Parts: sequence; C-alpha cells; structure tokens
Amino acid sequence: MSYIVEVQEVGMKYQSPNGEIIALENINFYVREGEFVSIVGPSGCGKSTLLSIISGLMSSTSGSVMISGEKVSGTSKKIGYMLQKDHLFDWRTIYQNVMLGLEIRNSITPEAKERAIKLLKTYGLYEFKDKYPNQLSGGMRQRAALIRTLVTDPQILLLDEAFSALDFQTRLVVNDDIYAIIKKENKTALLVTHDISESISMADRVILLSKRPGTVKNIYEIKFKNTNRTPLSSRDAPEFRNYFQEIWRGLDVHV
Ligand code: ADP
Repeated sequence: MSYIVEVQEVGMKYQSPNGEIIALENINFYVREGEFVSIVGPSGCGKSTLLSIISGLMSSTSGSVMISGEKVSGTSKKIGYMLQKDHLFDWRTIYQNVMLGLEIRNSITPEAKERAIKLLKTYGLYEFKDKYPNQLSGGMRQRAALIRTLVTDPQILLLDEAFSALDFQTRLVVNDDIYAIIKKENKTALLVTHDISESISMADRVILLSKRPGTVKNIYEIKFKNTNRTPLSSRDAPEFRNYFQEIWRGLDVHV
C-alpha cells in the first residue's frame, strides 16, 4: 500500500525566551490518497505546528514527512493550505482573490484562467466574481477561499481550523459544502479542529493527539452504514454518538 502522506517520527522543539518547548514528539501516521483525516487534541498540543511541518512551511527538529514518496523540504505545489480566517483581500474582487495564488507563482495561463472560471461556475460563485469579499456571506467567502486554494490544483488540502470563525449554523452548511467539493475534486484532506463533532462528521479517520508534547494517542476509523454520507447526515447517524463518546473519553478533559 502506498501512501500520499507519511509522517515518520516527527518531533518539534521550539526555543523560547523561557527555554525549550517540546511541541511534538514521535508522531507517526499515514494518509491514503482520497482520504479525509481529522486531527484533534487539546489546545496547544501542536496541531497547527504539525500542519505547518506537513506543508513544508516549517521544518521539524526530528523525523521526516514524505509526500507521494518524496521527502518534504520546503513548500510544494502539491499542497494547498486553508486557514481559519479566509484571508481574502477586501480591495480585490472575488475573481482577483481566486487568482492570487497563481499570480504569486507567476503562473496565470489561459488554462489556469479557464480552471478558475470553471470552479467559480461549478460552485456557485461565478455571478459574484466581480463583487468584493464584504459583499458575500461568511459561507460564500469560505467557498471562495477554497476555490483560491483549488485553482493551483493541489493534491492535498490542509485545513487548519478552517471553519472555526463561522457561527454554528453556517459552519454546518459550510462543512457540507466544502466536503462535497473536496470529494468531487478528488482531494486528500487533513483537517485540524478542536471540535470533536466536526472531526467525526467529515473524516474517514480521526487522529487524537495527547496534550503537549503532542503524541498520537489513538487513531479512530470512522465508518457509517450510510455510504453516501455527508457531514450533516453523519451527525444524525446512530454510530455518531459512540464515536463522540470514545473520542471524548480519549481526550480526557478535566475542567
Ligand atoms: P495547537 O494548534 O494544538 O493549539 P500549536 O501548534 O499552535 O498548538 O502550538 C503547540 C505549542 O507550541 C504551544 O505550547 C505553543 O505555545 C508553542 N508554540 C507554537 N509556536 C511557537 C513558536 N513560534 N515559538 C515558541 N513556541 C511556540
């Protein structure tokens, strides 16, 4: 079995004025092509650090990450990154925002333009392409941010708390929306979230990290009888509660 992402014995130490902070220790996991994997864990356990290392924006202090069998040593076109804030620029139209990644890479070709238009049309934003971000709803902005990420045609999407800034109802709709797009575009996705329900509703597997220094505490296979599941239908499925309780117990929260 070959894996698209291999995280091998990854460790990360930060140097801070108060001494060394061990953020991650001996992290090992593998992701198959097309899989949707969620990463959950207590605040400060190193989830964002882990995504930054996988993206190549940051180097680990030990271990290695392989993408399609190649060692990560810097950022790569194979990876798209989506953050909590949509980071759309208010002074650029939706189309200009969507084209930003290509513009930075100096790779605006006629094919790329066509791809952007096609994505905007398929995902209901074409009529809004000349509008500015503040004229769009939170959900539409998030979709625009995803399209901007997809335009560069990455194989893997890293989503760091990508839905956390949205109110609960909007988040449920956007979860469904973004999940459908990711599946339709055949992408592999890694989602960092502090929300157990969100992690279960979207994922094929949930990786639970321990409190800092983050280590892999458990990996849960998420399977529903309904094979045409959506995040929303998963939340309603009888299996959901059991997964929630299992992961909640694993998280071992004390208040
Ligand atoms: P999470 O995403 O799970 O909340 P982070 O990856 O943001 O966790 O952070 C993990 C730990 O590393 C935290 O204790 C945080 O304070 C620390 N940390 C993160 N970035 C830095 C940095 N640049 N310098 C020093 N410590 C950092």
